[in-house]
Amino acid sequence: MHGPIPPDRYFAYLTWTEIAALPDREAVVIVQPLGAIEQHGPHLPLVVDSALGLTVLGQALGQLDASVPAYSLPPLYYGKSNEHWHFPGTVSLSAETLLRVIREVAESIYRAGFRKLVLLNAHGGQPQVLDIAARDLHQTYPDLMVFPLFLWAVPNAAPTLFSPQELTLGIHAGDAETSLMLSIMPDQVRQDKAQAEFPQDLPENSALTMEGALPFAWVTRDLSVSGVLGDPTQATAAKGDQLLESLVAGWVKVLDDIYRFRQPQAGAHPGPGSSR
Ligand SMILES: [Zn+2]
Repeated sequence: MHGPIPPDRYFAYLTWTEIAALPDREAVVIVQPLGAIEQHGPHLPLVVDSALGLTVLGQALGQLDASVPAYSLPPLYYGKSNEHWHFPGTVSLSAETLLRVIREVAESIYRAGFRKLVLLNAHGGQPQVLDIAARDLHQTYPDLMVFPLFLWAVPNAAPTLFSPQELTLGIHAGDAETSLMLSIMPDQVRQDKAQAEFPQDLPENSALTMEGALPFAWVTRDLSVSGVLGDPTQATAAKGDQLLESLVAGWVKVLDDIYRFRQPQAGAHPGPGSSR
């Protein structure tokens, strides 16, 4: 049941008595992996985001120093994927449902005595929902530290591996995701069906962009016929190996930083910059 997560880091393998006996539960890092079940073009399976998030997390937990207490909750495979809803197979939760699920999971974890919750999100369509969930939870439970984090936000090898066009416009089922899938689940990649497609009909000479500071709202069907945004024909397992290794290294550091993190409390920790 644990998939890529090391069994001794899999929360659901603990018993309630073991949880009750865990020392210093406030410092234990609990990670909720969030993915998606959504179209990834004709060549990749629906599970890509969930699979990539779990694989990176599993390897990072495997490399994490044994003295750092951290557990992965069972993954939430479904996410908010309504941008892909024209493509059959996509399963989407509404923002409201996702907010509620995150909130109720967090409340269960809080009730068990944990105070650090990482929302490790591998799907680009839902960081906004996680940001709202995290702030609202922290407002309700001031001693709960919540980290709404995106898988790809850690420093990684992508800039050295992919073309400039891919780096700006290859946001879905392109070279990066396909290379990673060739690295971790090659049997699930239909590379003979891979086709490049970059976003079509974008505004020219305009301040408005698909993503970035001044975006317009879109669904994938507006931009792509195949469901692909990027060039998966350039993907290789070797690039995927390098990208995976860099993402894992990034997440080992982030998990360690979270373990050592304490919530800022203005005025409570006099130090450099203190007015006292
Ligand atoms: Zn994806």
